Amino acid sequence: MPTAKASKPAKKAAPASAKPDESAQKLSALIHRHLVSTLARHEGSATPHDWWVATALAVRDTIHERMIATQAVHNADNVRRLYYFSLEYLMGRLFGNNLLATDMLETARAALAAHGQDFEKIRDAEVDMGLGNGGLGRLAACFLDSLATMDYPALGYGIYYEFGLFRQQFVNGHQVEHPDNWIRFGNPWEVVRPEYAQEVRVYGRVENVFDDRGNYRPRWVDTKTILGVPHDIPTAGYGTKTVNLLRLWASQSTEDFDLAAFNRGGYFEAVREQTSAETVSKVLYPNDKTENGKELRLMQQYFFVACSLRDIIRRHLRNPANSWANFSGKVAVQLNDTHPAIAVVELMRILVDEENMSLEAAWGIVGQTFAYTNHTLLPEALEKWSVGLFEKVLPRHLQLIYEINSRVLHLVEAKWPGDDGKKRVCSLIEENGGKMVRMANLAVAGSHTVNGVAALHTALLKQDLFPEFDALYPGKFQNKTNGITPRRWLLKCNPRLSDLITKRLGHTDWARDLDLLRGLEKSAGDAAFQSEFMAVKRANKVELAAIIKAECGVEVSPDALFDVQIKRLHEYKRQHLNLLHILALYRRLLQHPGLDIVPRVFVFGAKAAPGYDLAKNIIRAINVIGARINGDARIGGKLKVVFLPNYRVSLAEKIIPAADLSEQISTAGKEASGTGNMKLSLNGALTIGTLDGANVEIKEEVGDENIFIFGLTVEQVAALWARGYNPRDLYNADEELRGVIDWLGSDYFTPGEHGAFGAVHHSLLHGGDPYLLLADFRSYCDAHARVDATYRDKRKWAKMAILNTARMGKFSSDRTIREYAEQIWKLKPARIS
Ligand SMILES: *Cc1c(COP(=O)(O)O)cnc(C)c1O
Repeated sequence: MPTAKASKPAKKAAPASAKPDESAQKLSALIHRHLVSTLARHEGSATPHDWWVATALAVRDTIHERMIATQAVHNADNVRRLYYFSLEYLMGRLFGNNLLATDMLETARAALAAHGQDFEKIRDAEVDMGLGNGGLGRLAACFLDSLATMDYPALGYGIYYEFGLFRQQFVNGHQVEHPDNWIRFGNPWEVVRPEYAQEVRVYGRVENVFDDRGNYRPRWVDTKTILGVPHDIPTAGYGTKTVNLLRLWASQSTEDFDLAAFNRGGYFEAVREQTSAETVSKVLYPNDKTENGKELRLMQQYFFVACSLRDIIRRHLRNPANSWANFSGKVAVQLNDTHPAIAVVELMRILVDEENMSLEAAWGIVGQTFAYTNHTLLPEALEKWSVGLFEKVLPRHLQLIYEINSRVLHLVEAKWPGDDGKKRVCSLIEENGGKMVRMANLAVAGSHTVNGVAALHTALLKQDLFPEFDALYPGKFQNKTNGITPRRWLLKCNPRLSDLITKRLGHTDWARDLDLLRGLEKSAGDAAFQSEFMAVKRANKVELAAIIKAECGVEVSPDALFDVQIKRLHEYKRQHLNLLHILALYRRLLQHPGLDIVPRVFVFGAKAAPGYDLAKNIIRAINVIGARINGDARIGGKLKVVFLPNYRVSLAEKIIPAADLSEQISTAGKEASGTGNMKLSLNGALTIGTLDGANVEIKEEVGDENIFIFGLTVEQVAALWARGYNPRDLYNADEELRGVIDWLGSDYFTPGEHGAFGAVHHSLLHGGDPYLLLADFRSYCDAHARVDATYRDKRKWAKMAILNTARMGKFSSDRTIREYAEQIWKLKPARIS
């Protein structure tokens, strides 16, 4: 057994390890060596990017030693491991994280200074690893951090996209997308492992063959083969030696793939097929929440899942102590949404077709291996694939889906004899019109546990989305409220606040046990501490103001209230409700020039899916109206509106520490959890929000008096739809609401360009206002009035902000992961000494 002393968390600045000068000199020499021998660079001509690579390589040496040691212990002890399957990982930058993990942050700062280099400038040279869209991908990244930090043996599996989420630019207020060629200059954090490449087959047909005893032995033939090459990214824990792996698959053509075509005499055909195999991992689909039946997307899902399962099986069976008999004893697979749900069928196929197991036995193993996390109730986000597409890409899997379905329908019949309605909703195949495979039903049937991501979401999952399955499989549904890693989202992104907390609590243990922040509660009313806390906030706002000036060309005052909404652009998240409120404030100021309001800076960050026209129209409206407001001398700078382009993890890390107010204003019942809400609150921003997702639990933690709640509840939303909702009634009844909507629909903000915001305007009035902006508008404005009044009382605001930080312990992803490990994965930590 590995023995380990309970490792102490890294100390900042304090020279716990070696003498700082000495270790900085060593690191400085190592950086120099990498610059010269690895990068072939002269110090004098090295760019910030070169310095970043050289420093990363120097840090990586330590990370790799730990990674090897970790894998050696896990293998020697034949530990049970968690395999996290996710199509997205929004890792952001790895530099700061790895420096914290190795306790080398201050050393690296000093080492770079010795070379005359500015640490922050070097840090900014790293391109974000943006292999995800939003919350779901960032959750996966936070989970990897917590898994390693708490010494859980785990691997993340996913796709090595050549192009991550697009880079966003604004041109005349419009969103313009550019490819994110993030690996153009190489990635010092990855290790390519061609020796562990896997072959995956697609297309072809099933031959009906019977063996010599008359057993049906289908053969999947005439397939095309794609090669998956693993790229390993180490994921280092904080305050511990554990370094786990994120293993991402890049697709390549196989040699026989090429040769067959060559032999048919077609050079171009060969090259074309080669590119089509390589296309599979080329680009991340940029739609958050919706994916619509694209063949390439199904190929991506199957490709990474098939590679990963083969890799798991290879690693499992290479230990002579292991066999299929203990497979599910050693292997726990978590499906991050239904994107990897085809894994259920692929494992069945391997067991039945390649290992000659009975369907019964195979289904038994499958059902002990997988667990599934549902991330959304939005109907448009529930994945479905046409049976025709399945037949073309994965014909054998389609057969097995029918096998699985007959088992499910058998259970339904046993529970509700003769009830065809129940069979219709539980079936893996949807029969309305063209037949579709329902991936959510497949994931539920093939998993031992299904979880929602916040208490409210899980309740709605059981009540509204899967009531039949909840009855069919009692106890299968659980809640696991999301969390965020306090390392990235406080320790690393907000060093000023981290230092203040450490000073007040007298230790840094809080970064590994976030509940310890409760120790700040007793200082919440302390005037001296309040002013220190708000001085940190102000310094962070000064820094953000400089970024705003550089990115948007707008001057903002750090004394204004920074009102922040940062998240994917989506109707249900209601950035346009925020816009309606901004218009209302602007209109009040124009009509009453002396009006006394707290000056505000509205900060937006959001990418819209490239094909989501209404979302892009909202972006344009915010940009154009914002520019008009920013340039209007009549309002004396009381309002500023800035939309920071290219929202991503590294930008979030700069905005969040500077936020006063956090906008979490989704229509009740639509946001499964949210995690941005947690990051902002942890950094001392107060929330203005609806009773949706994890906001409900944030309110429970911080207390009703430390949050601004408004709007309809889930029950009230349901009742409103039931009795019939007409936004026109509200429009007619509320003069201010009517005024701002008419204004938005006019060409006041776009002289000479008629109907510029027609899509937004239309959805609110004629489109039936599906996200109930008009219904919540007045209550939202009232909540903002309470914000305004509260902000004037500096001490009260400070106290509320401190209590928000102090009470966020629950939302550490360490807590989330511990719950998954204990209640779903049955996973134990393995200490690395
Ligand atoms: C946390 C995070 C999200 C999720 O934000 P929500 O407000 O929960 O939607 C999306 N994108 C990035 C870059 C994040 O860091």
